[in-house]
Amino acid sequence: MGFDEVAAAIDSIAHQWRAARPERQRRRHLERADFGLLRDAGLLRVGAPEDQGGLWRSLEESARPTCSLYRTLAAADSSVALVSSMHPAVISLWLISPDPDQPEWEDQRKAVFASAVDGVQWGTITSEPGSGGDISKTKATATPAEGEPFLSGALYTLRGDKHFGSGSGVTQRMMTTAIPDGEDEPTVFVLDFDGRPWDGTSGLELIAEWDGAGMAATQSHAMRLRGAPAVRLGFDGPLVPIAAAAAPFNALLFTAVVLGVLDEAVALARERIAVRAESLRPFEQVEWTLAERDHWVCCQSYEGAMRAIEGGDPAASLYAAMRAKHAVAELAESTMLRLTRVLGGGTFSLSSPFSRWFEDVRALGFLRPPWALAHDTLFATSLE
Ligand SMILES: Cc1cc2nc3c(=O)[nH]c(=O)nc-3n(C[C@H](O)[C@H](O)[C@H](O)COP(=O)(O)OP(=O)(O)OC[C@H]3O[C@@H](n4cnc5c(N)ncnc54)[C@H](O)[C@@H]3O)c2cc1C
Repeated sequence: MGFDEVAAAIDSIAHQWRAARPERQRRRHLERADFGLLRDAGLLRVGAPEDQGGLWRSLEESARPTCSLYRTLAAADSSVALVSSMHPAVISLWLISPDPDQPEWEDQRKAVFASAVDGVQWGTITSEPGSGGDISKTKATATPAEGEPFLSGALYTLRGDKHFGSGSGVTQRMMTTAIPDGEDEPTVFVLDFDGRPWDGTSGLELIAEWDGAGMAATQSHAMRLRGAPAVRLGFDGPLVPIAAAAAPFNALLFTAVVLGVLDEAVALARERIAVRAESLRPFEQVEWTLAERDHWVCCQSYEGAMRAIEGGDPAASLYAAMRAKHAVAELAESTMLRLTRVLGGGTFSLSSPFSRWFEDVRALGFLRPPWALAHDTLFATSLE
């Protein structure tokens, strides 16, 4: 099964889900059956290398078809698409940074890819209250532990508060960060979320259920880690180069999700506006024209960043992907605002798809790197 077959299966799923949009947009929870369908379609294999049973060839070759899958899905169900996109986003940490001189790292990489091929869903619960999305500000701690690790690597137990764990309840592995005892710098850990209760008896305590106005069904819960079992990242070296290598791809994955929502909103608006084109007032004509232009600009930004990744220059990829994510985050919000002004007050109703999409697209600016942190990177890379 290659990318084309997975894409055909995802197209067909998205087609069915679109037909059920009113019910899906009202959901405040994830359905396991949806993730079963996506698993059967081969979606979890996108983050594993081709020679290990997956679909991935290289960042240059695979970023575009991978992101396209999530763009398609998002047009049908934004919450499921966002949760699903976390899987390749997280696995990319292992995928993009091989090091044949580190056998333990290579063993762990193989184990991560094997789990994805076996249908294990990955996600992340890295964010911490007060960190502003900056992982270097983590306060969680990690203590070495005895026992059989659930993944190749060293076992620890983690303590600390985490939030925004999109996909809690449907993901089996959650990436996070913590500072190991006796060390100064945080590193990455993998938490075992597979069927573990959330009452604190097994290391995870649910402290707040997700009640997002947008991306409402993502189950992005807040959890207290109370001695939660976790396996340490097997890479021996600083975290920054690994995170930086994955950053352009991750930024485009999240951009693809919001762009998929915007594609759908603009397409539906076009249908509704076209039938009354003759009677549009000048203000409405201007708002529609600008909305359509800005959607085009979003598509071009995404395309430009994708081409930078395909060009293979890491610095150029980071430069372009950060700007594309930021531009699309801003323009998606203003585009939705313009569309609702033309389509009218009915879009304020919760039963209108536009009211949900309006809030959904706001998520992009908060997704990693969130607004303030993203601005730091934009400035830091602007004058080099
Ligand atoms: C829809 C959606 C899905 C997301 N999914 C994920 C995900 O799957 N995994 C993940 O790791 N992250 C996820 N994020 C989080 C995202 O990556 C950012 O980390 C996050 O949005 C940053 O939040 P913030 O800027 O509000 O800062 P934060 O510092 O996280 O602040 C969040 C809240 O904490 C309060 N706060 C502020 N300062 C303090 C303080 N000093 N002490 C205590 N509380 C404080 C604020 O009132 C604020 O409401 C998601 C975000 C969204 C919007």
